[in-house]
Amino acid sequence: MATTKGTIGVTTENIFPVIKKFLYSDHEIFLRELVSNAVDATQKIRTLSSFGEFKGELGDLKVYVTVDKEAGTLTVSDHGIGMTAEDIDKYINQIAFSGAEDFLAKYKDNINAIIGHFGLGFYSAFMVANKVEIVSLSYKDGAEAVRWECDGSPEFSMGPAEKKERGTDIILHIDPENAEFLEQIRIDTLLKKYCRFLPVPVVSGKEQEWKDGKMVDTDRDKVINSTEPLWTKKPAELTDSDYITFYHELYPGQDDPLFWIHLNVDYPFHLTGVLFFPKIHNNFEVTKNRIQLYCNQVFVTDSVEGVVPEFMMLLQGVIDSPDIPLNVSRSYLQSDTAVKKISGYITKKVASRLEDLFKADRKDFEGKWDDIRIFIEYGMLTDEKFRDAAMKFCLLKDTEGKYYTIDEYKTLIEATQTDKDGNLVFLYTTDPTEQYTFIKAANDKGYSVLLMDGQLDSHFVGLLEQKIDKSRFVRVDSDVVENLIPKADKKTADIPADKRDMLTTLFSSQLPKVDKAQFIVTFEALGENGAPIVITRNEYMRRMKEMAALQPGMNFYGEMPDSYNMTVNVDQPVVDKISKAAFEVLDSKISTLVTSINDTNKKIEDLNKEVKDGKPTAEQEKQLQELMSVVDKARKEQTETVSTYAATQPVIRQLIDLALLGNGLLKGADLSAFITRSVELL
Ligand code: ADP
Repeated sequence: MATTKGTIGVTTENIFPVIKKFLYSDHEIFLRELVSNAVDATQKIRTLSSFGEFKGELGDLKVYVTVDKEAGTLTVSDHGIGMTAEDIDKYINQIAFSGAEDFLAKYKDNINAIIGHFGLGFYSAFMVANKVEIVSLSYKDGAEAVRWECDGSPEFSMGPAEKKERGTDIILHIDPENAEFLEQIRIDTLLKKYCRFLPVPVVSGKEQEWKDGKMVDTDRDKVINSTEPLWTKKPAELTDSDYITFYHELYPGQDDPLFWIHLNVDYPFHLTGVLFFPKIHNNFEVTKNRIQLYCNQVFVTDSVEGVVPEFMMLLQGVIDSPDIPLNVSRSYLQSDTAVKKISGYITKKVASRLEDLFKADRKDFEGKWDDIRIFIEYGMLTDEKFRDAAMKFCLLKDTEGKYYTIDEYKTLIEATQTDKDGNLVFLYTTDPTEQYTFIKAANDKGYSVLLMDGQLDSHFVGLLEQKIDKSRFVRVDSDVVENLIPKADKKTADIPADKRDMLTTLFSSQLPKVDKAQFIVTFEALGENGAPIVITRNEYMRRMKEMAALQPGMNFYGEMPDSYNMTVNVDQPVVDKISKAAFEVLDSKISTLVTSINDTNKKIEDLNKEVKDGKPTAEQEKQLQELMSVVDKARKEQTETVSTYAATQPVIRQLIDLALLGNGLLKGADLSAFITRSVELL
C-alpha cells in the first residue's frame, strides 16, 4: 500500500477549530468517545463471530487505556473489528456523512444541531492532542495493517503499518496544555466517571499493592468497570439485595433506598434503568446524588433537568437509553422529542408502580408513606399527569396515625364534617404539639384532624382543595371549633350593641402588645364547658402570608400584621362573672356617656339633613365640628373608663394570657408577668 495524502472529507476548513471550541464544553469527554468506539468495535467482532461471519479466534477482548508519560501519549487499544484503509477513508476521512458542507453552512450558528446530528466522537481527540494516530488491522481476510496520522489540520496521511493483532490503537500525542491527561490518576477518575458500566472490560494500568513501604504495580490488569450493571438484567433474575447493593455502589454512604422501580421499555423508544426512592435527610444529599443518564452504558450526564420530570429530581438511580443523544448540551437535550417522550413515559411508569405497590401491600406502603410523601406531593404539585394518577394512592394521615386514601377519608368525614353549605371541611394541623388544644377540641366534637406537617403541605393543601370537589381545608386553630365547620343550628351570642362595645373594650384593652399581630375581638356562645377565651389565626390571612414568604412580588401580604381572632365565650361562668361585675360598677357611668353619644349623634344627623347639596354653610360646618368633638370626647372617656376598670381586674388579663399561651404567643416579660400573677391569684 502506498502512502496517501489527502484532505479530510469535511472540506470546511474550520471543522477543527469548531470541534475544539464549541462541540464539547468538557474536554475530558474525548476519553469517553474513544473508549466507546473501542467498545463498539469489540462488540461488533463478538456479534460477527456469533453469526459465524468471523471464524477466527476472538482472543483477549479487553479495551486498554495506556498512559505513557515519557512519550507524551495516551493510547486506547481494542481487539475489535479493526479498520481497513477503505474503512478509515469512509468513516474517519469523510466523517461519516455526506453533504456536510451544506449542512454546516446551514446550521453553522447552531452547533448543538450539528453535534446532535452527527457522531463526531473520534475527532474530539483533537481537543487534547496535537497529533493523533490510528494503527489498525481489520478482521477481514487478507487485510493489511494501516496507519493514519493527522496533526489537527484538515490534512492527514495514511500508509501501511506494522501490526500483527487484530484491532485498533488510537494514539493521542497530548498537547502540553492538556498534560493532565497524562496522569494515571486523572485517567482513572475519568474512566470511573464515564466508563464504569461499559459492557466490555476496560483496563487502565495495573493493580497496585503495598510493597517495601510503597505502592507498586503488580502484573494484574486493573479493570475499572463492571460490565453487566444491574439495570441491564431482567428484574425476575434480581433479588432485593442485588438492588440495594447496586444502590450503594452508585451512592456510597447512603441509607438503604425505600424502594425502586426497574424501567424496561422497547417501544416507542428503548429505555432501561432503575430509579430509587431514597431516604432523604437533607437537601445537600438531593443535589449531590442525582439520577445518572447513560447511553448504551456510557455515562452521559447527571444533569437530568428536562430529561426526567422535575419532581423526579428527588429520585436517584440510572436511566439508560440509546435514544438519548450523547454529545449535546442540556438545552438540546431538553428540546429533543425523544427525550420529551422519555420524560412522559417515566412519569407514567413511576405512577403505575406506586399504585401497584399500594395495591399489593398496603401495610408496607403505609409504613413508607412518611418518607415518600415528599416525592408524591412534589409530583402532584408539579406534574398534572402524575397528579391525576396519584389521586388513587396518595394517602392522608390523621393525628392518630391512621392512613386513608382521599376517597376513604371523604367517606369518613362526610357525615360529621359537612358544613351548612354542603362543603366538606378537612381539618388539619401543622404542628400537633403546638395546636394540641385545638385538636383535642375538634376530636371531642367528633371531628377528625389531618396531620399536614410536611415541607410541601402548605401548597399541597391548596392543591387538594382544588382537586376535591366542594371541599375546604381549614387549619384546626384557625377558629373556635364551633366555627370551623359552620352548621345551620349554631347558637349565637346575642349581646346588645352598647354592651358589646363595653365588653370589647374590657377585653381588648388588656391584650398585651404582640409584635406584628393584630387582634379582632368577637363573642361566641361556646357552652359552659368551653374555654373562656380562644385565640385563633385567620386561615385566609395565614395562607396569604405563607405564600408571600415563598413568592416574591407578594410583599403586600408579607408586610401585613398577623391577624388573630380573640373569641370570648359568653357562656363560660368566669366570663359571665367578669362581665356582670363590670356592668355593676360601670353601668351608670357608661349609660350616661352612651346617652350623650346617642343624643349628640342624633343632633349631627338632624343637622346633616338641613345641609343642602352636600355643602354645609360656614355656621353649619362649625356646629358639626363641635358636635363631633363631643362624641369623640365621650367615646374616649368611655374607653378610658372601661380600660381603667379592666386594669384592676387581673382575671381578665389572666384569661387572655392563658389563651395566648395556648398559641405560643406569650413570651418574654409577658410570660414572666403571667407566672407572677398566677401565683398571686392562687
Ligand atoms: P461514531 O462513533 O459516532 O460513529 P466516530 O467519529 O467516533 O463517530 O467514529 C466514526 C466511525 O469510525 C465509527 O462509526 C466506526 O465505524 C469507526 N471507528 C472509530 N473508532 C473505531 C475503532 N476503535 N475500531 C473500529 N472502528 C472504529
